Amino acid sequence: MAEFVISAPPVPAIAVSGGGAFPVHRVYCIGRNYADHAVEMGHDPEREPPFFFQKNPDNLDPSGRFPYPSQSNDVHHEVELLVALKSGGTQIARDQALSHVYGYAVCLDMTRRDLQGAAKKMGRPWEIGKAFERSGPVGPLMPLAQVGHPTQGRIALSVNGVLRQEGDLDQMIWKVPEMISYLSEYFELRAGDVILSGTPSGVGAVQRGDVLDAVIEGVGALRVIVV
Ligand code: MN
Repeated sequence: MAEFVISAPPVPAIAVSGGGAFPVHRVYCIGRNYADHAVEMGHDPEREPPFFFQKNPDNLDPSGRFPYPSQSNDVHHEVELLVALKSGGTQIARDQALSHVYGYAVCLDMTRRDLQGAAKKMGRPWEIGKAFERSGPVGPLMPLAQVGHPTQGRIALSVNGVLRQEGDLDQMIWKVPEMISYLSEYFELRAGDVILSGTPSGVGAVQRGDVLDAVIEGVGALRVIVV
């Protein structure tokens, strides 16, 4: 290939617990994957086909600080289990899907809810509400050897010590192997892809100065300060 005509941007990466860094290729996010959150957003919790949107790889941010974004007055927290893939492919069978997983992390899908709501109303894409700078605060990636495949366990988020979101991983409508299999029917999954697996109920607005404490049993904890 010809030489780059500008300097190449850095490869986005997540720190791995125990050392090293996981390079991120794509960020897929599933919507409404916990029934009680689907209901709070005004939708029927029945098992419809899943739907996905994307964030940008460099939206993931391990710094523990979340700068309140521009152009919004209603920014919400969503605590989610991040699934990181070490390999991929197309047409991946459900019973083979977990063999592609490298590990798991605690992640936040920060959302400009006002802009997302306006986009929904007008039938427009969601990027402006979802895929903005530092919108994916993320904790250390836990390799499979340390955490196995978490299929149940408490997932929760508190703001300034007050519990806001609480659920259990076993409440996911579409389980991790199903999400991987489904995505692979539409996209070619690759090493470095990550999936945000949806959020339980209790999403709400944050303010500058808030301290967000996210926890997923068996995976870890993440503290993020809104600045
Ligand atoms: Mn989400």
